Amino acid sequence: MYPFLRRSLAACALLASLALPAAAQQFPNRTITVIVPFAAGGPTDTVARLTAEAMGRDLGQTVVVENAGGAGGTIGSQRVAQARPDGYTLLLHHIGMATAPTLYRRLAYDPVGGFETIGLITEVPMTLVAKKDFPATTLQEAVAVIRRQREALNYANAGIGAASHLCGLLLMKAVDTQMTTVPFRGTGPAMQELLSGRIDLMCDQTTNTTEQINSGAIRVFAVTTPQRVEALPNVPTSTEAGLPDFQVTVWHGLYAPKGTPAEITQRLSRALQVALRDPRLVQRFAELGTAPVAQAQATPEAHRQFWLADIAKWRPIIQAAGQYAD
Ligand code: ASP
Repeated sequence: MYPFLRRSLAACALLASLALPAAAQQFPNRTITVIVPFAAGGPTDTVARLTAEAMGRDLGQTVVVENAGGAGGTIGSQRVAQARPDGYTLLLHHIGMATAPTLYRRLAYDPVGGFETIGLITEVPMTLVAKKDFPATTLQEAVAVIRRQREALNYANAGIGAASHLCGLLLMKAVDTQMTTVPFRGTGPAMQELLSGRIDLMCDQTTNTTEQINSGAIRVFAVTTPQRVEALPNVPTSTEAGLPDFQVTVWHGLYAPKGTPAEITQRLSRALQVALRDPRLVQRFAELGTAPVAQAQATPEAHRQFWLADIAKWRPIIQAAGQYAD
């Protein structure tokens, strides 16, 4: 290359880097915290811990996970929406980001405008599971028990707008009956109650149920996806089991508070993309019945588009049901 051209290119690069705020240039130079808006030990927490660890390797900094469960994920979301927009406090949340803007009409934060998107992570199938001695072995038998016992059955969820809540609504609509819903700060603690038999039924991500199903600790009736899940080869789909309308998957994404500089969200997005190719993460996701999204989905733009489309998809469904969180 001609020396003068090399010099002017170097000068351009220097000018570009001077244009970045100092904080963005040095990012990250300390620990990053990812808030999970559900209890520890649950499926969203599991996805967050695997993702945080792999991102930390690329960023050269520790990425810690902190749990702030409650109110269907809105407590943790509020914490991030109101955090300093410097890239050091992030939110890893799921489909609840698409339902909260309609379900919760009185929030102390802006559930859409309060966030920058970083990238999508994974779309996780759900499973309808029951305590080990639930008196049914197939979905059809389970439906008959639900219709017979109705409110005498305890159905666990992680609060209004949580994936387990949406899945429960779909199930109750499909079988046209009600059960008693018991809310938890997350389905990690709910799983403990299912294992001990105090909860009868739950619908939850495979990232929380696969190992318990495969060890025989709980019963499973169906996966809520059109295709079977590789980690659960013997579990029928809801369609195979006779309830084709009982379908839902749980997408997860990473967010930063509104106003976080684009250079920082782009850096985080690059780290997320690297993390989603990490063989350890890919293998663990597979063992838990899921897979990372395609690389192009792990970008701020694709994530925002997907999120806004999902808000628009859920709004009329929630409005027609007329059930709000307040
Ligand atoms: N699976 C939960 C839900 O129902 C949340 C969790 O604990 O990760 O949304």
